[in-house]
Formats: sequence, structure tokens, C-alpha cells
Amino acid sequence: MDTEKTYTLRDLETTEFSGTPLAVIGHPIKHSVSPAMHNAALVQLRKADSRFIDWAYYRFDIAPEDLAQALPLFHRRNFLGLNLTIPHKVQALDLIKGVSPDAEIAGAVNTLVWDELGYDGFNTDGYGLSRGLEVDLGVSLKGANVILLGSGGAARGAAVQCVLSKCAQLYVGNRTPERLQDLMAVLAGMPGGARAQTFALSQLPENLPEQGVVVNATSLGLKAGDPAPIDVAQLPAGWKVYDMIYNPSATALLEQAHARGHAIANGLSMLIHQGARSLEIWSHADVDAHAMMTAACHALKLPPRHD
Ligand code: NAP
Repeated sequence: MDTEKTYTLRDLETTEFSGTPLAVIGHPIKHSVSPAMHNAALVQLRKADSRFIDWAYYRFDIAPEDLAQALPLFHRRNFLGLNLTIPHKVQALDLIKGVSPDAEIAGAVNTLVWDELGYDGFNTDGYGLSRGLEVDLGVSLKGANVILLGSGGAARGAAVQCVLSKCAQLYVGNRTPERLQDLMAVLAGMPGGARAQTFALSQLPENLPEQGVVVNATSLGLKAGDPAPIDVAQLPAGWKVYDMIYNPSATALLEQAHARGHAIANGLSMLIHQGARSLEIWSHADVDAHAMMTAACHALKLPPRHD
């Protein structure tokens, strides 16, 4: 089978995927770098352990209206693991056998693991973010002050991770107040959720602590010409800025923050570490995140990174 190809529901109906197949499913999915990342890590796993000899990671374009039909088919075809990306992370919750507690709170799953009776769901995005912040910016979420921009799927995972990690303060802002309130209701039900408060994107909270990290979990910045979601000039000098967006590699938010002297990083490290954690869940082996980073940089036509 060809791990470069984009497969469809029809392929799943008509084709046997031999060995131990894994896949990312989304819509659109053509530009996903997950197959490159995971297949590079599988090459490394194979060198250390022959049980990975027939593992391969594919990509499938599955429309949202086909997800309910596709998941049982993936299961019947013995796909050991699936990564879910836009737009499936929330809808899949109602279609699987079990959900890990943090994914249940976040209301989204990005990693499914085969079990005889169906798929179990996990969310590795929060872990990926927390590792990305540590690796790129030296920020540990425990005790950190965090300004989180957004209230969509990625922001929900990030907010839950911040509270679970016992951040000091969590300030959440979003364009649509209703979605922000939904997220705040989730956080309010968690131990430590009281450390979360809201703000309007147009005005950063008053009297911010001297240090902290801004995490952009909005999709503002994905398109050329998108403005920054906040006015970086309102940010105290000691704050760092992380943008979950990694393609383009520099958003207006990152460029403006960099120009004002803030330490910055984009979401590539989050992508790598959420993927590495997924593969660890499936393989129960240590995964080479460096190999994944090299493959992702190559696929994205970025200069190689050595972290
Ligand atoms: P989503 O569920 O569609 O949420 C999108 C968020 O962006 C919402 O909060 C939305 O606000 C906000 N937004 C969209 N357009 C906006 C605008 N013009 N002005 C202000 N806010 C705007 O998407 P998602 O899955 O959470 O993903 C969010 C971003 O994170 C995407 O860029 C995605 O690529 C990135 N991401 C990166 C990784 C990684 O591994 N690095 C992982 C997951 C996601 P409203 O509620 O007002 O619509």
C-alpha cells in the first residue's frame, strides 16, 4: 500500500490493509504531515523491535457525514490506531466505545485505539502543547500564568490541560461569547477551575502578572493577511507567545511579538509531541520525536530543526 496516497471511504470498503495499519482521518487531509511524521518514527521503531515490521500509517479523507459509517469499517479492517483531525474530534466522541477522563472533559478526541469491542478515545493535544511550551519556551504549565486565545476544539484541550497542570492563572478570550461561556462552564466543573477567568480579545486583562505565556488557539493567522488576535503592545515585556499555528510558520501575532522582544514559538512542537504521544499509546514503546520533527520539517519545506 502507498503511504503517500490520500485514501477514501470507498478505498476502505474495497481494500484490505495488511499488517498493522494506522491512519489519520480528516477533511480536508491532503496536506497533513502526520503520515510523514509517523512513518519516519516507525522506521526508527522497526530498527529496535521487529514487531513493528508491518506497521504503516495512512491518510484518509473522510467527510463528517461519513464518519459514523467509516469508524466501524476501520475497526473491521483492524486499524490499530487512528488520529482524528478537523472536523472529527468532537463528533467521534459519540461514536466510540470509551473515552479517557481528560478527553471527556475537553469534549474532543484525537487518538483512537482499537479494542475488540470498539475504539477507545484519548486526547494528546493538551500533552503536545505542554511539551511544546517546555521544549520551545522553557515554560512549564504548572504555576504558569496563561492567556489563552480561542474556545474551539484546540482551546478546550489546552484549557483543560492548563487547569489539570495547575497553572496559576488562566485568562481565556474568544470572539464569540457563547462559545467562551461553554468552555468556562466546563472549567468551572473541574477542581482548580476557579483560576480561569474571561477577557475580551480587544482588551487584555488589567494588572497582568509580569510573566506568563500567551497561547493562540484561534485559527486567526492561518490565512495570509490575517491580523493578530490581540494587541501585543498591551502585553507586559516578560510574557512569551506560543501560536498553535505552524503553517505558515510565522503569523502576525508571532511577528509582532518578536518585534517587541517577546520569546516566541509556533505550533510545530505541539504537532510533533501530540503525534509522538499517540504513537506511544499504540505501540507501548519509546518514540523518536526527533525523527518526527525532521520528517515534518521536510514535508513542510522548512529548514531542519535539531531539538
Ligand atoms: P476550531 O474548533 O474551528 O476553533 C477556531 C477558533 O478560532 C475559535 O475560537 C474561533 O472563534 C476562533 N476564530 C476563528 N476565526 C476567528 C477570527 N477571525 N477572529 C477571532 N477568532 C477567530 O479550530 P481548532 O481545532 O480549535 O483549531 C484552532 C487552531 O489551532 C487552528 O489554527 C489549528 O490549525 C491549530 N491547531 C494546532 C495544533 C498543533 O498540533 N499545532 C493542534 C490543533 C489545532 P469563534 O468561537 O468566535 O468562532
